[in-house]
Amino acid sequence: MKTVRDDFTILNRQVNGHPLTYLDGAATSQKPDQVLDQIRAYYDQENANVHRGVYTLSQEATTSYEGARAKVAAMIGAAAAKNIVFTRSTTESLNWLAQGYGPNHLEAGDEILLTQLEHHSNIVPWQVLGKATGARLRYVSLTDKGEIDLADFKNKLSQKTKIVSFAHVSNVLGSLAPVKEMTTLAHEVGATVIVDGAQGVGHFPIDVLDLNVDFYAFSGHKMLGPTGIGVLYGKTDFLEAMTPVQYGGEMIERVTLEEATFQELPWRFEAGTPNIAGAIGLGAAVDYLNEVGLETIADKEEELMAAALSALAEIPDLTVYGPKDAKNHHGVLSFNLAGVHPHDVATVLDMAGVEVRAGHHCAQPLMDYLGIQSAVRATFAFYNNQEDLDRFVSALRQAREYFV
Ligand code: PLP
Repeated sequence: MKTVRDDFTILNRQVNGHPLTYLDGAATSQKPDQVLDQIRAYYDQENANVHRGVYTLSQEATTSYEGARAKVAAMIGAAAAKNIVFTRSTTESLNWLAQGYGPNHLEAGDEILLTQLEHHSNIVPWQVLGKATGARLRYVSLTDKGEIDLADFKNKLSQKTKIVSFAHVSNVLGSLAPVKEMTTLAHEVGATVIVDGAQGVGHFPIDVLDLNVDFYAFSGHKMLGPTGIGVLYGKTDFLEAMTPVQYGGEMIERVTLEEATFQELPWRFEAGTPNIAGAIGLGAAVDYLNEVGLETIADKEEELMAAALSALAEIPDLTVYGPKDAKNHHGVLSFNLAGVHPHDVATVLDMAGVEVRAGHHCAQPLMDYLGIQSAVRATFAFYNNQEDLDRFVSALRQAREYFV
């Protein structure tokens, strides 16, 4: 019987003489053939620039590019395709917010509220903005389970809070933010809510209108799409209140030697020739995710996580960070073996074909909070299976025997 694994050609390869066990989907997901085929089909059949030509190829390319935008909008429940701006990545989406929205909405003494578990891409742009505007950054602390401490969030919210930005799912702990509750509270003090959805989209159903967030950022490459394409979702009023960060072709309406007027949403943000093939590939990823079903994906990832957590509980000297239950890990599992450097663990695992990430995971303030320098991280995607888990656990036992 055909399984989803058959759609991922890369999963057939060997690494260091062993079948590939890819457990680093939080860094970047693998891509199914359907996505790769669609990118190839664009270059084979439609390659032309978008929004420019009256000729057939350009119109076809434009239809595919704009079709991808509509697919993304539908997947996250956006009101319209114009609420989807194509960017390069989550990082670019967040930087555009810090540079294009932040300065218009902050003055000295205002506050930007983040959390202790953010990825560097949801910290550093705000630090730079804080320095430029005189706004102060504050950080919500975490509970023992590695979840956002809602009581601390409420304490730190005030009339001074103008921007609240936090990860939907932690890329280290896998914990889920109570987005709806935090959004309601932030809106009560008039703050703008930004969610970093890099680890959310593609893992479970998301409805931005129901969550009521003002902006939502994510990356195509973490949800089966290609690298170099990302998304910034914004409510219409909020996108209208944002200034473009890049200027040039495509984004203008009329240019004279003195000045220029800009296009409507969302094109005013997409200066220059966009990543057409990337957007089309992302559209194919959305089709694929819908076909497998986001509920099915969530269930599969939780099932693998439950099995991983119980297998790891049997290994002495091993500490798992974050929530104890599989329900709140969303495929992400970080841990350390006492006395063994995470890079050594990852190297032994690699020798067995098991690919995991070791390091600070672009979350050094979270590492500081956990009192560690780095950790090993394994992520379980819906295209992983029990054999992957078995190979991972057996390689981990080997690493322990080797070093401890
Ligand atoms: N935010 C989170 C929670 C992430 O996990 C990542 C990537 O690891 C990012 C932001 C940045 O994503 P990208 O490198 O695709 O911009």
